[in-house]
Amino acid sequence: MKRLTLLIAAALFYGLLPRAGAAGFAGPGPDTAAFSLPVPQAVNSRRLICVDPGHPNSFNSGLEPVNGTTETRINWQVALKLESILKEKGFDVLLTRSEELQPVENKDRALMANSAGAALCVHLHCESSPGSGFTLYYPDRQGVFDYKDDPDNGFKGPSSRVIEESLVLALAVQKGMQEKLSGSLADLGVKGDSATKVGSNQGALTFSIFSKIPTLTIEMAVLTDKHDAAFIKSEEGQEKMAQAIAAGIQLHQAR
Ligand SMILES: [Zn+2]
Repeated sequence: MKRLTLLIAAALFYGLLPRAGAAGFAGPGPDTAAFSLPVPQAVNSRRLICVDPGHPNSFNSGLEPVNGTTETRINWQVALKLESILKEKGFDVLLTRSEELQPVENKDRALMANSAGAALCVHLHCESSPGSGFTLYYPDRQGVFDYKDDPDNGFKGPSSRVIEESLVLALAVQKGMQEKLSGSLADLGVKGDSATKVGSNQGALTFSIFSKIPTLTIEMAVLTDKHDAAFIKSEEGQEKMAQAIAAGIQLHQAR
């Protein structure tokens, strides 16, 4: 009951409620064996924020050219700006990869954030679908990892606590993004992982299933849309996006 009260209070505070919708990521990807993963520091602090620049991984390299760029490039460039802004605000930052083209599996991105003791994790992505604007996805139910080649095939998660806290995080970041991106990018809402292609199969996105901390997937823009692509490719647009996400994280951590 206490958690439910917290959830309702947060929803009222942020003045926002989730909506239903559909999206997803899939496709072939590069070999992950050639790179080593960053070694997380065990800090266990509310000040440590995990920033996960989405792709490459086994399922999707994110390297398909779209409107003169790639999703992997945009995710990486915004992640570096977000890292810098968060550090200026006094946070510690864990990046889930140390190079733009370093492949890291989605499961490992979550495990890295867990073992580092991060307060929360934001996964940065760009959509390739009809429409225009940003969308936030949180785990709205427990999922089952469906990857028979992995020893953790069948793993269930996240916990009900993580599900509840991820929604609170989603609402806070949405508020920050709405304020900073008003007039630049449309708000397509907070949606459940189960509305994504992978989530509809597993119940939740892979990094959500393995997450022990609040987790949020941010589809920052629709890269196949010319307006959105022009915005998120520009230095100014990326800076604005990073400022917007940082504002949401700061709002969440200040609770
Ligand atoms: Zn993606």
